[in-house]
Amino acid sequence: MIDTYRHKGLRKKLVQEIISKGIKDQKVIDAIGKIPRHLFMDSTFDKMAYQDKPFPIGSGQTISQPYTVAFQTELLQLKKGDKVLEVGTGSGYQAAVLLEMGAKVYSIERHHSLYLKSLKLLHDLGFEVNSYYGDGYKGKPALSPFDKIIITAGAPEIPENLIKQLKIGGIMVVPIGSNVQKMKRIIKISENNFDVEDFGDFVFVPMLKGKINS
Ligand code: SAH
Repeated sequence: MIDTYRHKGLRKKLVQEIISKGIKDQKVIDAIGKIPRHLFMDSTFDKMAYQDKPFPIGSGQTISQPYTVAFQTELLQLKKGDKVLEVGTGSGYQAAVLLEMGAKVYSIERHHSLYLKSLKLLHDLGFEVNSYYGDGYKGKPALSPFDKIIITAGAPEIPENLIKQLKIGGIMVVPIGSNVQKMKRIIKISENNFDVEDFGDFVFVPMLKGKINS
């Protein structure tokens, strides 16, 4: 759990890189500058942790590229205290960025080992995350409605069941598609009325049904 001057220096360069790629929200930039991404990855990737790239985190999954994390977070238009549902905890890095920005985070992961590992790390770093092992397609109806929903795996279509768990006026950010995904921002205008915007191509691991005990 060491954050050295070298890590901090590399993180500053990463922040400059995501700014040069178009990220503008200062709170997002500050959070990326603060979270020690190398701790969310296997130590064999330590030297590469501040490259703007995804990396393997086990169970065939990846930690998202920092630019993608920043981009999705910016689209969420996060306010302090927002109740956010995340589908796909993975390494816990995206959850840490949301928590650092003052959100209340409810995060679901379908791989048991990733759920356990990310929960421990986030707690060790002092974050109070509400994380769950389960199928994100189901969401958390008992805890709904959410101000924001962020999906960090590629969904084949807009998950209707999760839209139901979004507040009126709430925002969902979700990559839609199979091989390549289109980043969509959905604003829930009324119970049956949505504003859908498209923010270009991204590549994610797939959002899959069910949970896995590995
Ligand atoms: N937010 C993560 C990204 C991890 S990749 C991070 O910052 O590291 C996407 C994650 O979504 C994977 O861990 C995958 O197991 C998970 N996932 C895919 N489908 C899911 C589902 N239906 N429910 C919950 N998690 C899911």
